[in-house]
Amino acid sequence: MTIGYNHLQATVHASRIAANYRLLLRAGTPLMPVVKSDAYGHGLEPVVCALEKEGATFFAVGAVQEAVQLRESGFAGRILALLGAQDDEEAEACFVNNIIPLVYRMDQLDMLDSCRLPGSAPVSIALKFDTGMARLGFPADQAAAAAKRLQRSPRLRTALVCSHLAAADEPDKEDFTLEQGRRFDAVLQDLRAGGVDGFQASLANSAGLLAWSELRRDLARPGISLYGGNPFHHTAWARLAGGLVQAMDVTAPVLQIRDLTAGTPISYGCTYTAPRDMRAAIVAAGYADCYSRVLSSPQGNGAAMQLHGRRAAVLGRVCMQMTAVDVTHIPEAKPGDQAFLLGGDGENAIRAEELADWWGTNSYEVMCVLGQNPRRHVQKK
Ligand SMILES: *Cc1c(COP(=O)(O)O)cnc(C)c1O
Repeated sequence: MTIGYNHLQATVHASRIAANYRLLLRAGTPLMPVVKSDAYGHGLEPVVCALEKEGATFFAVGAVQEAVQLRESGFAGRILALLGAQDDEEAEACFVNNIIPLVYRMDQLDMLDSCRLPGSAPVSIALKFDTGMARLGFPADQAAAAAKRLQRSPRLRTALVCSHLAAADEPDKEDFTLEQGRRFDAVLQDLRAGGVDGFQASLANSAGLLAWSELRRDLARPGISLYGGNPFHHTAWARLAGGLVQAMDVTAPVLQIRDLTAGTPISYGCTYTAPRDMRAAIVAAGYADCYSRVLSSPQGNGAAMQLHGRRAAVLGRVCMQMTAVDVTHIPEAKPGDQAFLLGGDGENAIRAEELADWWGTNSYEVMCVLGQNPRRHVQKK
């Protein structure tokens, strides 16, 4: 969606993303940071720039267009396009810009073969196999067939072989996850037996990296953990993501403070009535700014913002550009104050996982959509 003019401000702390990267490196596996969807709403180029300074040289974006954008920004390292080339134009863009396309269908190999390639050197591709997610990828039992087909494409060099874990964040799906690992190993074996070799193998996302040391392989692909999200929220493994720091804050200003006498309803539909004398702050953020109407009270399961270091509960319906919050216990609240929709200071900061619970979604969606608001990047803190 495109957001019209608004008063929201997303602040991305590059130093926190760098700190998360350093923490993840301690697992001992090289990392390919996943920066698809504008780095989960944090900004593609600034995030790549921050992680490059930490030594990252290989990044995964989604669409080929994102990869081209990253290349045109001056990034000289390796780029994987997770969605692969969709047509001849994208295939050529990959080779012209030295982007590695993910390949998951046989006809994509034909398309890549028929490209007018610059020079005569081999070009790199990555193969994706499905080992249980049933989303993108060659079926695992087609590894031998893929290897055979690749013999007819001498200029395509398989630099990377990937698969994706479906449930690595769920302790009770251990059997499923380990079976994905076994299928992935069988794929690698079939490829090598068929003469495809010299590639790096990559299986683990954030949860795989943090919870499954036996599945890390050559290169892990963390996304959410880099931005401070906890993939194990609500599970017994939540502590595995300890030490990661949320990189994004989102604020909006208070427009007005209203006194509500007991019995006064507030906002559309009069869904909330003040049970006693109260004060409400009207904050300039609503569903048009990706602060979902699902966060309305009472449906919103207790959604709140942070103001002056304290929690202010949402009152009544979230509107298009405004939301009322309870500031009865925050007497210093005044117009012009900034309310945190996400993040904030101290122990009352709004965690992406908490906001996601109120919203009925996960931290990934919270970051991707709120990050579409006007955004700035700061180095410190
Ligand atoms: C998004 C994505 C990742 C990153 O997953 P996280 O759970 O955010 O760590 C890794 N690999 C692939 C193929 C992805 O699409």
